[in-house]
Amino acid sequence: MMKYISTRGNAPELTFEDVLLTGLATDGGLYVPKEVPQFSLAEIESWRDLPYTELAHKVIYPFVEGCVDSDALQTMINEVYGAFGHKAVAPLQQLDNNEYVLELFHGPTLAFKDFALQLLGRLLDYVLERRNEKVVIMGATSGDTGSAAIEGTKACRNVDIFILHPYGKVSEVQRRQMTTVVGDNIFNIAIKGNFDQAQDMVKASFGDQSFLRGERKLVAVNSINWARIMSQIVYYFYSSLNLGGPLRPMAYSVPTGNFGDIFAGYMAKKMGLPIEQLIIATNSNDVLHRLMSQNLYEVHPLQHTITPSMDIAVSSNFERLLFDLYDRDGAALADLMAKMNKRTESVEVSEDKLGKARALFDSFAVSEDLTVQTMQEVYKETGYLLDPHTAIGVKAARECRRNPRIPMITLGTAHPVKFEDAVLRAGFDMPKLPHHLSDLMTREERLEVLPADLATVQEFIATNTFKD
Ligand SMILES: *Cc1c(COP(=O)(O)O)cnc(C)c1O
Repeated sequence: MMKYISTRGNAPELTFEDVLLTGLATDGGLYVPKEVPQFSLAEIESWRDLPYTELAHKVIYPFVEGCVDSDALQTMINEVYGAFGHKAVAPLQQLDNNEYVLELFHGPTLAFKDFALQLLGRLLDYVLERRNEKVVIMGATSGDTGSAAIEGTKACRNVDIFILHPYGKVSEVQRRQMTTVVGDNIFNIAIKGNFDQAQDMVKASFGDQSFLRGERKLVAVNSINWARIMSQIVYYFYSSLNLGGPLRPMAYSVPTGNFGDIFAGYMAKKMGLPIEQLIIATNSNDVLHRLMSQNLYEVHPLQHTITPSMDIAVSSNFERLLFDLYDRDGAALADLMAKMNKRTESVEVSEDKLGKARALFDSFAVSEDLTVQTMQEVYKETGYLLDPHTAIGVKAARECRRNPRIPMITLGTAHPVKFEDAVLRAGFDMPKLPHHLSDLMTREERLEVLPADLATVQEFIATNTFKD
């Protein structure tokens, strides 16, 4: 059975089931698998013709073995990905010779987060049903995470979900994707404040859960939850196999915020998939690009951009990579993270550790103007409209590519219809909402507007959690 350990080396080892139901480790670290499952080239090659759902089982099962029954996992996977809007689940779109976009936006909320959160909802219910427990999900969102989490857990019998978003500060499509989902267990809280305040309230609530009066536990749905990373590893294998892998290596460019999606690519490589290059593509919130290119870790104030899903000041999952760079030395990492989290001084990572990262990762930061230009350029070349996040990935891919003979795959993280500001700024008409969302703008909304006050929010959650 797979065990999970904390990146800071001072928290109990957990099973998958417990990792699924936790947020941060008790020592402040993130959970990672103690041993990484390994696949030989021959084994990967033998999966070449599998549909997405069967491949997903191959990749995911080693992480959950002993906690989730093999057949039950396959059933969950079939339900989740069978409901996606494209039969191939994650189809490739060709832009140029050896240049592709991997479309990860055919799930219910039109962003890649559905891949993980749809399955996470099923896994939670499966585990909670057997333990006869109920939990509370609490999360803050500036957009995509909230809607994907709500869609993923709306059918869960053992989960109440409370998603905080900054009042008036998410796009109408994104807000409606959260507030029009019908379910007694779904609560949208619009905070009269900004995203950071909402996020701080979530962090404080995880730190001290006494407002739940000991009856329930909080579960995290952001990408610190290992189950999310695990589900995202699959599409690296899938896209590679579709382009002649694993017999030839691939390169990936990944629009990055919290370093979750790209960490899944790094995992795929560790598991045996030949990946030649991983590109960290950021917007002007470029803390990772500055670290990679200058070895300077310095947190800058958050900038609001036309790619809101990548607007972060710090990338929490980067800690999972650092853990490996520091040879999985939890004590050393705890030290480093303590320095990094002070945020008052800049921190350097030792050159030989960073050198290991640079062998695989390149990085590039893309301004808003360049994002818009790339959307226009690709449309002119191919007639294909990129969402602005994906455009950042494509731009970074074109700038950083090491070898044009290796297929370059940019992860297409969202559908452009979600990001009106960018689409209009690039001079395009808004694309149509897909059929299952065609009446989104007229559906009834449900949300609670609350002040940015921790006690008020916690009281609202406690009251609504104890209804049953
Ligand atoms: C969440 C998100 C990202 C960033 O993903 P990370 O895993 O946080 O790096 C990029 N693009 C879109 C559209 C997203 O929703």
